[in-house]
Amino acid sequence: MDWLIVITVIASAAAIAAIIRAYRIKREVYIFAERMEEVLDQMAQGQGLGREQTESREEIESREQIEDREDAEELTDTIWGKCVEKLNRVSRVWQKKEEESLREKEELKSLISDISHQTKTPIANLKLCLELWREESLGEKEKEYLDSMERQTEKLDFLLQNMVKMSRLETGIIQIHRQRGNLYGTLAAAVAQIVPKAAKKNIGLSVECPEKLNVCHDKKWTEEAIFNVLDNGVKYTEPGGSIKVKAVCQEMFVKLVISDTGKGISPSQQAQIFTRFYREPEVHQKPGIGIGLYLTRKILELEGGYIEVSSGEGKGASFYLYLPL
Ligand code: ADP
Repeated sequence: MDWLIVITVIASAAAIAAIIRAYRIKREVYIFAERMEEVLDQMAQGQGLGREQTESREEIESREQIEDREDAEELTDTIWGKCVEKLNRVSRVWQKKEEESLREKEELKSLISDISHQTKTPIANLKLCLELWREESLGEKEKEYLDSMERQTEKLDFLLQNMVKMSRLETGIIQIHRQRGNLYGTLAAAVAQIVPKAAKKNIGLSVECPEKLNVCHDKKWTEEAIFNVLDNGVKYTEPGGSIKVKAVCQEMFVKLVISDTGKGISPSQQAQIFTRFYREPEVHQKPGIGIGLYLTRKILELEGGYIEVSSGEGKGASFYLYLPL
């Protein structure tokens, strides 16, 4: 009977010791995870790891929760020590990369503004020369050359301006400032810009938008995004056609529907028209460089929205511009 009591006591003692050990390990793992979270938070905020993380041994030892000094030493010397060392290395690499990318961005910024400044004057001079030339008495052939030179100069000017705009948007030099404001006003400004062109081509324009619709958006850039789609509507619609604009309020977004009765876009081309410099093969005789829709997509994305198209060849096109409410 005695040996049974002895075995029971030993088994109970072993069980209690195991429970205590399991409890300690659990607490250590918890502390470890907590510290790891702190360190990762610090790294995510772009701060380097301080002395307190690398000298974690003392700190862990000083923590009241870890009573067993040997366990603390083991934990520090092995897992925690290694983790902190690796994290330190990763943190330094990240910081270096961030510094590099900031420097590259600054260089790009000054390059873009140089291009923009340096090309402005020669293009303006070229335009002036062409204007002066037009005032001369010219033969038919010379007039033809002059027309062509003027067209190409306009194209060059447009291309440069838009490329600068595009790179500024892409590199984050241009910041989109969204503010709660009246969408009707923004839409009216975009439509006003297109009215003369539409009238010249005898294209009807109709707009349906609640006057008091407030949407969080950047007025200037949203106007540009809407204008690009309207401009395409006029460009790719035959005289006598029509363009309809309608604002629909949804739960999360305001949907601007811009529909035209133009040539339409075949489904196989629809994904590509939003990419940079893409133009359908059949439109090459029309003016344009293929970045209007790309810019519109970029602007909407920066505003937290997106753009979609639905169309069929010869069936007109509808563009849906979504702006978050
Ligand atoms: P661009 O008009 O200067 O060519 P965009 O980026 O604005 O460039 O448009 C890309 C292409 O999408 C156009 O070249 C054209 O093929 C097609 N597209 C855009 N809008 C329309 C439209 N409303 N109707 C038909 N095709 C269109």
